[in-house]
Amino acid sequence: MTKKPIFECMAEHNYEQIVHFYDPTTGLKGITVIHDTTLGPALGGTRIWDYACEEDALNDCMRLARGMTYKAAAAGLNLGGGKTVLIGDINKLRSEAYFRALGRFVQSLNGRYITAEDVNSTTKDMNYIHMETDYVVGLEGKSGNPSPMTALGAFYGVKASLKFKYGCDDVSKYSFAVQGAGQTGYYLIQYLLEAGAKKIYFTEINQKHIDRMAKEHPEVIFVKPDDIYSLDVDVFSPCALGAILNDTTIPQIKAPIIAGTANNVLLDEDKHGTMIKEKDIIYAPDFVINAGGVINVYHELQGYSRDRVISDIKLIYDRLLEIFKISQDQNIHTQQAAKVFAKKRIEDMAKIHKNYIKR
Ligand code: NAD
Repeated sequence: MTKKPIFECMAEHNYEQIVHFYDPTTGLKGITVIHDTTLGPALGGTRIWDYACEEDALNDCMRLARGMTYKAAAAGLNLGGGKTVLIGDINKLRSEAYFRALGRFVQSLNGRYITAEDVNSTTKDMNYIHMETDYVVGLEGKSGNPSPMTALGAFYGVKASLKFKYGCDDVSKYSFAVQGAGQTGYYLIQYLLEAGAKKIYFTEINQKHIDRMAKEHPEVIFVKPDDIYSLDVDVFSPCALGAILNDTTIPQIKAPIIAGTANNVLLDEDKHGTMIKEKDIIYAPDFVINAGGVINVYHELQGYSRDRVISDIKLIYDRLLEIFKISQDQNIHTQQAAKVFAKKRIEDMAKIHKNYIKR
């Protein structure tokens, strides 16, 4: 995307709108990208990062906004994809005025874009934004911490993968290797334990998280970070970093299923998606299996009900089965199949909305 003229970049993937904004009093410098609003207002978090240059910020924002379009579409939400990036060192910039200034720019988009937390922004920051606009979710006292919901979605995603691979989704018959026991991995392990998982291994680099597991669930076996890939288990669950499925790790993986919460796990989507398919491993596409958090926050816009959130999250199971089927029928890797699935929903909804109806 770099160095290309901006409208060429927009045309390549049908971006609707890019907004740059600046507030001299607070030093707020940001970009909001609205990728596609066919299904509804564009939702995407506010990421704050000290980018090396403005071009990097724009590229990141465009990539993330487009990812949100597919994520929301595949999650069955009536939302489009958008993103905001703020440029600079948050430790120097953070203030009430800074986030309220952002809130005013969000408001100026008149509901076409809804923001939320992301890297380096917090619930408290969202509360400041909310003083200037209603187009913000992830507020204190509303949908709460998304991580247990993301993990719950991953749990149903693991079950769907088991069903597709073995015809049986009874967790008690299988063994698991979980990479990362932080916000989401910890809860995923809890759900697996509650479902009677036969054996669970985990790895971590944070000693506090290793100690917590040893104290709360001593039956969950710790392995060193490099040993997690080659374990002889049924499911490998990446719940830590991106880009961990690559030329080095894929040949080591023995698990016939990869399904976890982590984002952007394929270093190169096409190359590594294909490598995984060729090894006959079922890979649950990241943006589909980890949509529990966005489903949770979406319900703030609907009048939050935990029961409704949970029943929506359970649908990740059915969606993944559909995506695995598309992958099989069209002989494409599952990440590609997930995009086919998401794009089809957007296209179908665009078609039914083409006639005029007075409301
Ligand atoms: P987290 O930071 O709370 O947990 C990640 C854990 O992985 C940390 O405890 C860290 O110590 C550990 N870790 C890092 N590198 C490791 C390594 N090499 N080996 C073993 N452990 C390692 O983050 P999280 O919120 O659980 O998110 C995990 C992944 O899930 C990220 O990719 C995130 O983008 C994605 N995700 C999270 C949510 C959510 O609701 N939190 C939603 C969607 C996607």
